Amino acid sequence: RIAYVNGQYVAHAQAAVHIEDRGYQFADGVYEVCEVRGGHLVDERRHIERLVRSLGEIRIALPMPLAALKVVLRETIRRNRVRHGFVYLQVTRGVARRDHYFPDPATPPSLVVTARAVDPAKGEAVAREGIAVITTPDNRWERVDIKTVGLLPNVLAKQAAKEAGAREAWFVDGEGRVTEGGSTNAWIVTPEGRLVTRHADSGILRGITRTVMLDVAEQLQLTVEERPFTVAEALAAREAFVTSATNFATPVVRIDGQIIGDGRPGAVARVLRENFHSFAEVTP
Ligand code: PLP
Repeated sequence: RIAYVNGQYVAHAQAAVHIEDRGYQFADGVYEVCEVRGGHLVDERRHIERLVRSLGEIRIALPMPLAALKVVLRETIRRNRVRHGFVYLQVTRGVARRDHYFPDPATPPSLVVTARAVDPAKGEAVAREGIAVITTPDNRWERVDIKTVGLLPNVLAKQAAKEAGAREAWFVDGEGRVTEGGSTNAWIVTPEGRLVTRHADSGILRGITRTVMLDVAEQLQLTVEERPFTVAEALAAREAFVTSATNFATPVVRIDGQIIGDGRPGAVARVLRENFHSFAEVTP
């Protein structure tokens, strides 16, 4: 495997950044994960847009012009011969002697890109079974709209899920309402058949998959409500599911050990999953 690290393509096993990198010292950086399908990037435009926004929010400069960045993404995919899988991109504020203040003068941001092949059959098998989730208090900071590499609460929540025999943890705000998953957005289908997912301007990351699924739902003439839903509402839902670039739509069949709907993957999650790639943008 090959990784791109600050201007060079290097063997993945030897790829390294400096110990004084601010990503390592302070989690002072942001990232993106973009699907690769048939060797092409899925929804690259939206991922790049979100990256630019994340960088702007924490005042890190673009590591290189966007046209060059797009070349690096493609070259990393090509050198790793990835047909189906994911490309990971991380930008940090760069290397500087450890001090909380931004480096002054500014250091060049660090850029790392990796790509990994994934067997699509594995995700399909998980989606056919459905997954279990647990709920846990949302103890994250307020700026979870920024896709920062500071993911410790997400790590702890997902590990707790794993230890409880579940795959994902749903964060719950102070009012008992689900915000999102540790690495996914959260959705339910009400007993009346309405699709509900939290509005993206409070307490969640605006998932690219979430955005595309809203388009899919509109085209399929499903009724969508972008609003918070409570854990109680989720437990009483007809179905539940999660979305992300690595999960598309993956059904949730248990929440905190309780069966959702009839305990099997739901029809809405299935139809969204099946239609996702005809709505996502694929760029050569
Ligand atoms: N929410 C969180 C906290 C995430 O980490 C992710 C993806 O990593 C998502 C939502 C889903 O975002 P996307 O659909 O862009 O992958």
